[in-house]
Amino acid sequence: RLHNTILELKGNIRVFCRVRPLLPDDGAAEGVVVSYPTSMESLGRGIDLIQNGQKYPFTFDKVFNPEASQQDVFVEISQLVQSALDGYKVCIFAYGQTGSGKTYTMMGRPEAPEQKGLIPRSLEQIFQISQSLQAQGWKYKMQASMLEIYNETIRDLLSTNRSIGSDPTRPESAVSGKQYTIKHDANGNTYVSDLTIVDVSTITEISSLLRQAAQSRSVGRTQMNEQSSRSHMVFTLRISGINEGTEQQVQGVLNLIDLAGSERLSKSGATGDRLRETQAINKSLSCLSDVIFALAKKEDHVPFRNSKLTYLLQPCLGGDSKTLMFVNVSPEPSSVGESLCSLRFAARVN
Ligand code: ADP
Ligand code: MG
Repeated sequence: RLHNTILELKGNIRVFCRVRPLLPDDGAAEGVVVSYPTSMESLGRGIDLIQNGQKYPFTFDKVFNPEASQQDVFVEISQLVQSALDGYKVCIFAYGQTGSGKTYTMMGRPEAPEQKGLIPRSLEQIFQISQSLQAQGWKYKMQASMLEIYNETIRDLLSTNRSIGSDPTRPESAVSGKQYTIKHDANGNTYVSDLTIVDVSTITEISSLLRQAAQSRSVGRTQMNEQSSRSHMVFTLRISGINEGTEQQVQGVLNLIDLAGSERLSKSGATGDRLRETQAINKSLSCLSDVIFALAKKEDHVPFRNSKLTYLLQPCLGGDSKTLMFVNVSPEPSSVGESLCSLRFAARVN
């Protein structure tokens, strides 16, 4: 209850910051650019960024330093995940520049159990809890989908006939004839035409979904690495529950979103397709922030229709839905400018 009250007071949007560790490839770590204040009031919630000797302090609902494990992070969102089983609409975003740890946070490295990210952990928890609620008469139906929005074009990440290795810049619709149109139904929910929906009601179905998801991501790391940093990945789990004793019904949705890299367009060089692509990313991230700011300020008009991502998520943003944004930060000294932009953006949301 206390948990819900805090969410309501905050206009339902919370922000967690996560700083990834320095990696061997990051090069020499000259100069510490991130520090964590240890005063009582900002312990675990504060982060200081140092640029050119100047200190920029920020406070969020939670700050995870590089030592935080995937489990440490999951513990802090598990209540929110569980509220989807109670019929809430939940969105969890990862925002940050390419290389800041968004995909690690969301998907993790599924091959190493302790490095699994929020998506596998959430599925496992929801599955376990739904099993234990059977004793109280609850029956759940769960359906998952996973898509990518690239240049305002939707791609199906769970389609079994998606040809791996095909030209990633070519819209799938050109190959399969599938349209992937976003539609709003009579109940105010959105769905995407032609999108693959996978039933997940047994542990076998969950593992097979995760394998498929991991494969989509590994393709992302090799052939489509460039593209995966330029597209939004949206994982959606729809939960319908009915209690056979009381006939009570719930409809919850959990969306886990790995956003496109937030880095700014370099001032020179980008032309043609590359320029259009970067403009599309910038536009869609700024549409998302317009929507979030309008919701935070409780404005009458919220511009959901300005991008595919916000139109798709419309029913899950605002109202009594719950939104959490991770701002992922790299500790590399060469990234301090981008890190400052990300933290400033997140501070405005918060
Ligand atoms: P993004 O998706 O934002 O581009 P990634 O999630 O791919 O960034 O992270 C970049 C690199 O850093 C990857 O090699 C990833 O495995 C690693 N990494 C990110 N966060 C962590 C973390 N908390 N602990 C260990 N390695 C991490
Ligand atoms: Mg990524």
